[in-house]
Amino acid sequence: MSRPFNFSAGPSALPIDVLLQVRDELLDFAGTGVSVMEISHRSQPFMDFAHATDAAVRRVLAVPSDYHVLLLQGGSYLQFSQIPMNLFHKTNTADYIHTGLWSEQAANAARQYGIVRTIASSHETGFDRVPEINESHINLDAAYLHYTENETAQGLQFSKPPISSIPLVCDACSSLMSKPIDIAAHDLVYASAQKNMGIAGVTLVLLNPAILDKPLAATPQALDFSIQAKKQSLLNTPSTFSWYVMGLMMEWIERTGGIEVLHEINKKKSRHLYNVIDGSNGFYINHVLPDYRSINNVPFHIFERNLEDLFVREAQENGFHGLKGHLSTGGLRASIYNAVTLDAVQELALFMREFARTHG
Ligand SMILES: *Cc1c(COP(=O)(O)O)cnc(C)c1O
Repeated sequence: MSRPFNFSAGPSALPIDVLLQVRDELLDFAGTGVSVMEISHRSQPFMDFAHATDAAVRRVLAVPSDYHVLLLQGGSYLQFSQIPMNLFHKTNTADYIHTGLWSEQAANAARQYGIVRTIASSHETGFDRVPEINESHINLDAAYLHYTENETAQGLQFSKPPISSIPLVCDACSSLMSKPIDIAAHDLVYASAQKNMGIAGVTLVLLNPAILDKPLAATPQALDFSIQAKKQSLLNTPSTFSWYVMGLMMEWIERTGGIEVLHEINKKKSRHLYNVIDGSNGFYINHVLPDYRSINNVPFHIFERNLEDLFVREAQENGFHGLKGHLSTGGLRASIYNAVTLDAVQELALFMREFARTHG
């Protein structure tokens, strides 16, 4: 069976080894004789697996030992609300950095609970960079500063966390585990699994307990970080199958050599595509300034916009899937998360060169 090259933005490609392991273990999880989908989340085999996953996450990301590692439901999207619900206790205000679609959605969700101040934005330059962030922009009465490490639609990425004198919160949905991120420099980092580390259904939340206090009134128990931490994310039935696949992904990441190794591969992958774009004499366009280009998502346009549909169609016919850009930005996008191989990216680079040669 030949599988297409998958550049989907999320849910996205999984390593073939992980898919095969899921298949092999589907009818018998950890010697139980039944599928992981058929046992209690409180059974010993599942609890053992959950503890091993927790330990692997801590090892791989160098999570400070006192931080909580939570695996929650609702996606990163729910974190946009759950975070202000839990952190707006003392002061109903937070600072946000605006770099594109996802940071805007996060800020809009938080606005339901209090005052959101956008302290820096690259909107005026078309999200071609991470805006200049000066300590003096930060409001000292804000509960936290929020930023989006990688803007999945715009293809714009921070090279290091912003300096912040207040608690720092990071949406790392499309970049966690694809590059080293200094967790200790943050107070909260969150990411859904379906981009670089698994499938939809679990969201990793890494959390400094020092920033927790009472959540806002009427916050449901399931959305209370302190309660979820006390219950080790097992307050109610979690998405056990998604948790299981994330555990397998942690094993795969460690087998591959860890995040430093993946980062090198990911940088190389993105370089291949940016080289094709920059070397196409204006046939392909990516307008993000080189220092801020994402290693996870490579969005691009074709100078002749009406060739974009043809590009998607021909790509599909040649075995390249998932290259349509985000609904809000249009155009084209190759998402090249951890499980997308260097080989697949090289094949895409060849296809793009050939398409430009025959249509340019
Ligand atoms: C995909 C994505 C989200 C939304 O994640 P869901 O799992 O769909 O809730 C949020 N932020 C960023 C940066 C994303 O890429």
